[in-house]
Amino acid sequence: MITTKEVKKEENKNVLSLFQSTQRVIQEALHKLGYKDDMFELLKEPIRMLTVRIPVRMDNGEVKIFTGYRAQHNDAIGPTKGGIRFHPEVTEEEVKALSIWMSLKCGIVDLPYGGGKGGIVCDPRSMSFRELERLSRGYVRAISQIVGPTKDIPAPDVFTNSQIMAWMMDEYSRIREFDSPGFITGKPLVLGGSHGRESATARGVTICIEEAVKKKGLTLQGARVIIQGFGNAGSFLASFMHEMGAKVVGISDAYGALYDPDGLDIDYLLSKRDSFGTVTNLFKQTISNEELLKSECDILVPAAISNQITVDNAHEIKAEIIVEAANGPTTLEATKILTERGKFLVPDVLASSGGVTVSYFEWVQNNQGYYWDEEEIDKKLRAIMKHSFENICQLSQKHQVDMRLAAYMVGVRRMAEASRLRGWI
Ligand code: GLU
Repeated sequence: MITTKEVKKEENKNVLSLFQSTQRVIQEALHKLGYKDDMFELLKEPIRMLTVRIPVRMDNGEVKIFTGYRAQHNDAIGPTKGGIRFHPEVTEEEVKALSIWMSLKCGIVDLPYGGGKGGIVCDPRSMSFRELERLSRGYVRAISQIVGPTKDIPAPDVFTNSQIMAWMMDEYSRIREFDSPGFITGKPLVLGGSHGRESATARGVTICIEEAVKKKGLTLQGARVIIQGFGNAGSFLASFMHEMGAKVVGISDAYGALYDPDGLDIDYLLSKRDSFGTVTNLFKQTISNEELLKSECDILVPAAISNQITVDNAHEIKAEIIVEAANGPTTLEATKILTERGKFLVPDVLASSGGVTVSYFEWVQNNQGYYWDEEEIDKKLRAIMKHSFENICQLSQKHQVDMRLAAYMVGVRRMAEASRLRGWI
């Protein structure tokens, strides 16, 4: 007899990895746009992938060797761009997939970049401030040959922040022997950072929610929102939703979730969260992340990790609108189920592109040496996000494809065209 466990194992084998599903949608998008297989051959992998080993002297005197990566997907449009994540589960394949994602995001919001991504296998939660500084500087020394303001421009990602960007910028400037603020974005304001960069991903998600609500004929006022994840995107988003009159009924972190149909006390939760977004450990009455996703709400925002909405729970999602603030939270099979159920899904490559958009503003300001105020940034971000959202909705209707495929078609089009015009294909 076959046990449930074995069936599960068999199913898991059939679930595509993030990298494979990204490749599959890229292939479909290129096909819909009329490109031949050679274009897919070019775009299915990063053009450059560097693996580095970084020796770091730990506080106890011992040396620990860390592994890091930097992937550059395609530079036909211009320099590559994308964050660096510090996480124990970083893998080469994940970094590659995320670099392709960055190309798509940049294509969607029409930035003059291709995608890049970096990662270091480490757990910053168990490292001291000084150990993190040494690791950050060591990583920049290891990748300095292939990065720079006109080559590849890093930024923050999971578990990295403006302090880490400041150390990296300082290290790069020392190597090059001139001040290079345009080498990296997401810096503190005094070091050439931009107004609005820290909350930019959440701002972009908010604009997508506003547009999706309009499309569905709903109102944000009083709408019940569940946000999975209370990191940078999730926590800023909770505060924006609360300010705008929506009711945040659920939030979660890596250890559990909180749900209250009458609305959670967001100000209290924000004041209690630690720098890694942990807050549920302070409560006795918690539910699991799995339960949270299936709880009653109008809008669901997965803002944590990948593979959260799968064939196992897609039938039970109550929300009418799902806005993906995380990278890859919904599998392709689950996307199909949600679309069939008439749910409105705003895909990750569109919903989370606010961060890189304001990173672009930061780089432009660094290059021109003239800085904009917050109002200017907000206005510019809103115009770009609204336009991109509308563009993808229209394409999805015109070609009768789901929002994810439409987003990939917009994301890949310019890159394919630029590669062709350069004579690469
Ligand atoms: N790490 C962010 C992302 O995945 C931002 C990248 C950037 O600002 O370059 O979109």
